Amino acid sequence: MGNRLSGKVAVVTGGNRGIGRAIAERLAEEEAAVVVGDLLGELGTAGPSVEGFVCLPLDVTKEVSIRAFVDEVLQRFGRIDILVNNAGIVIHKSIDEQTVDDWDRLMAVNLRGPFLMTKYVAPEMRRTGSGAIVNIGSVEGFMVNPWHTAYAAAKAGVHGLTLGLAVDLGPDGIRCNTVCPGWIDTDLNRSYVEMHPDRSLIERELGQLHPVGRIGSPKDIANAVLWLASDESSFVSGEMIAVDGARTKKISLPAILDEEYRAKLSKLAL
Ligand code: NAP
Repeated sequence: MGNRLSGKVAVVTGGNRGIGRAIAERLAEEEAAVVVGDLLGELGTAGPSVEGFVCLPLDVTKEVSIRAFVDEVLQRFGRIDILVNNAGIVIHKSIDEQTVDDWDRLMAVNLRGPFLMTKYVAPEMRRTGSGAIVNIGSVEGFMVNPWHTAYAAAKAGVHGLTLGLAVDLGPDGIRCNTVCPGWIDTDLNRSYVEMHPDRSLIERELGQLHPVGRIGSPKDIANAVLWLASDESSFVSGEMIAVDGARTKKISLPAILDEEYRAKLSKLAL
């Protein structure tokens, strides 16, 4: 596609599928050497494959795994310019059902993982005098779905981590930003849609929640990550950028008023 990341080495955690896979592909299309770190340590078959990225085993909950992964990347590629902290899980449980183990597991992947990855990658970025860290946060760091207390707390934590890293690492030439996806079509939330007997109805209603009229694709997130990882955003650091089709900008209306508004919109479209 282009050469916006030519000569750079990028690490993407949880890049075996979903948003991470799209990010790895997009960065590789722009000529970065991309290393995906994932539990499996091998690339799944979903999605088109792109030359230029490899997958190594990584469990972001384990410090020993992160150290081994970073060492291996440096041994093979000699540097790390871009870190995308993407790996994440979700738990749908009420506060009564949620166990301490549930809470700790989610925090270990979604919040402690980005902290530990940064801890071991930042010295390498400092050595070269530049680096871009892009976290995948969520609109659920700002507002929340029911039964997502742990997820929302972790994502708000990622947003706070972003502010701290931007301030602490800025003097070393390292930027840190976060992309906050809205509803993106991946395995993470597909089970939610599949629970409902009338799948097409739920898909239509989900689309209508977004002023742009559709849910997002992993590629929508990958394009935003590319910009934040590239030198085109060299004066942008410490930002949380929502990529959500303006869903979080729309104030809820009573259902009947919302229907009238949509009916008007569809007449205008005729
Ligand atoms: P996904 O399809 O479930 O993919 C998650 C990826 O993370 C998988 O490749 C998984 O590996 C990997 N992973 C999980 N635990 C890991 C660990 N301990 N160490 C290393 N890798 C691990 O999810 P997604 O929708 O692409 O989500 C990616 C990120 O976007 C997450 O941070 C999520 O919170 C965020 N997000 C998603 C949405 C959405 O609507 N989808 C919205 C907002 C934010 P395996 O394949 O081996 O399981």
